[in-house]
Amino acid sequence: MGVSLSAGPRLASVVDKAPTVATLCSHSSLQIFHGARAEGLPTIGITVGKPARFYDAFPLARPDRFLSVRSIKEFERLTGELRETGAILVPHGSFVEYLGAEEFGRLDVPVFGNRAVLAWESDRRKERDWLESAGVSMPRLFEDPEEIHGPVIVKYYGAKGGKGFYLAKNRAALESFRPTGPYVIQEYVLGTRYYMHFFYSPLSDRGYRVGHGSLELLGMDRRDEANIDELYKLGAQEELLKAGIRPTFVVTGNVPVVLRESLLEKAFDTAARIVERSIELFGGMVGPFCVEGIMTEELEFKVFEISTRIVAGTNLFISGSPYSDLMAPGLSTGRRIAQEIRRARAEGRLNEVLS
Ligand code: AMP
Repeated sequence: MGVSLSAGPRLASVVDKAPTVATLCSHSSLQIFHGARAEGLPTIGITVGKPARFYDAFPLARPDRFLSVRSIKEFERLTGELRETGAILVPHGSFVEYLGAEEFGRLDVPVFGNRAVLAWESDRRKERDWLESAGVSMPRLFEDPEEIHGPVIVKYYGAKGGKGFYLAKNRAALESFRPTGPYVIQEYVLGTRYYMHFFYSPLSDRGYRVGHGSLELLGMDRRDEANIDELYKLGAQEELLKAGIRPTFVVTGNVPVVLRESLLEKAFDTAARIVERSIELFGGMVGPFCVEGIMTEELEFKVFEISTRIVAGTNLFISGSPYSDLMAPGLSTGRRIAQEIRRARAEGRLNEVLS
């Protein structure tokens, strides 16, 4: 038997109703609704303002109905109706970002996954404690600039949307950095970025076993980041700085990637350690998560971030990926979420996947 996620009385609203998948209309909602529909679950799309017209253009992903609020601050008003319909909220990046991690954590509606993870993910120091204590390699942090002997990336606290970074190719270049707020200095890791889409199922008793359940790899992408990814076309960073252009990492799209097959062992080992430690620290991370890191030329994988929910890069794989095709045809992350909800319901184990 697995771990209960202490959803407590919140679960009462779903035990004797057909589960309904609900999420904010944004980010990866088309995929989430499409996956739920494929598994026969009803869907609710929550919108701020009127529903966007483009949902009409995608009949297989249009939610069965919409619930709207004028501003995200009014979200609370919907919670009674969501509970009455047996809604299960599926978190994604925009949903948690717009509502705020704390507010999302307090919602009185069942959430897919363990909401305790929010506190660990939204604080970069706690996140580092979690990953490093799991034995995962991360970019080095520099307390003392004297120790810097290579390129560094300076990250302001709470840097969001790809802005709030400063790159310096060495210690001397850092001298012209004029901070405008609290920041950390991190080793700039040279290598190739991979964003690996994993899914941890506490219900599964087959496959790659971790804890009481199993770990699945559903896909992988790399993010296109403006304007840093195109800098090389215009020449060295210094030249751009002279022209007043600062590098940013604003995500503008995603490209599918696959990893050299021999590196999969490392990928699974890293993700398994993160899950095992999450079970010890806060009862476990359940469902989709993304391990974001850089593979160096020495084939060391350094993790700079973890997203503990469905990421937008999974939208590449609505009809399957080179990895999920090896498990089942047409398996997206959105569909995998719906399968887990269905199975938990059928086996009376909703307390293991909802919080
Ligand atoms: P983050 O906000 O930590 O996800 O970082 C945003 C982007 O900055 C990432 O997608 C990477 O492209 C880049 N990045 C972050 N940390 C590092 C690092 N230590 N070395 C190299 N690039 C990094």
